[in-house]
Amino acid sequence: MIKDIVLKIIEEKPNCCDDCITKIGDFKSRQQVNKRCNKLVEKGFIFREKNKCIICENLKITNIITSSGVNELNTLEEKKKDKRSAVLEKENFGRFNINFEFKWNSLFEDENLEFLFPIDLNKEAKKKHSSPSVYRWILINPEGKKLQDVYIGEASELTRRIYNYLKPGESQKTNSRLNKLFTELLNLGYNISLQKLSFKPFYLGEYEINENSLENKLTRRFVEHMMASYYLNAGYNLINA
Ligand SMILES: [Zn+2]
Repeated sequence: MIKDIVLKIIEEKPNCCDDCITKIGDFKSRQQVNKRCNKLVEKGFIFREKNKCIICENLKITNIITSSGVNELNTLEEKKKDKRSAVLEKENFGRFNINFEFKWNSLFEDENLEFLFPIDLNKEAKKKHSSPSVYRWILINPEGKKLQDVYIGEASELTRRIYNYLKPGESQKTNSRLNKLFTELLNLGYNISLQKLSFKPFYLGEYEINENSLENKLTRRFVEHMMASYYLNAGYNLINA
């Protein structure tokens, strides 16, 4: 509800103007906010007076929450909590669908140079590919055929992760093992390619997950494990373990 969001903003920023509420709440128009504020005045949840806005510091009509406005917010908060526990305690089966559209993209240092093990990316490419990612290593045999072997991983900073594969520290067992395996395959004429997962925003129930959500480690691991499960079921050999 717009009205509730407006009230919440006014509670957090006492003496804010309608323009600043519009910005903070990412509302379509100031008129929309103005209308809600007048409604809130009618209900006695806020009052308005000419004052210096706490945010933009211009002399404007600003909004201040009243004690019944604070009560209203508390009641709303309680209602939300009730709703939450109702979801958790539902005895029926919960359900959400996943509609996942994805694509694996090779990394490029520039237009022509694809990242293949063990190329060290230049500074610009490193910057470009540094975002939190789900990635995979794929193996291409000397005849140019992709193998049914795949390594799927996640990284908070993909380029730092790449560096660890190229120059594994002594304590990094997985990295050392893969480095050894990749080096052997390389000598046999294989190409080892790193690809980054891109996907369209999808919903887990009513919650949107998009590529920015990969900032969160749990979400990154969720997408990583979802892909690993998928390839495992598709008969691939996961070289993760
Ligand atoms: Zn303002």
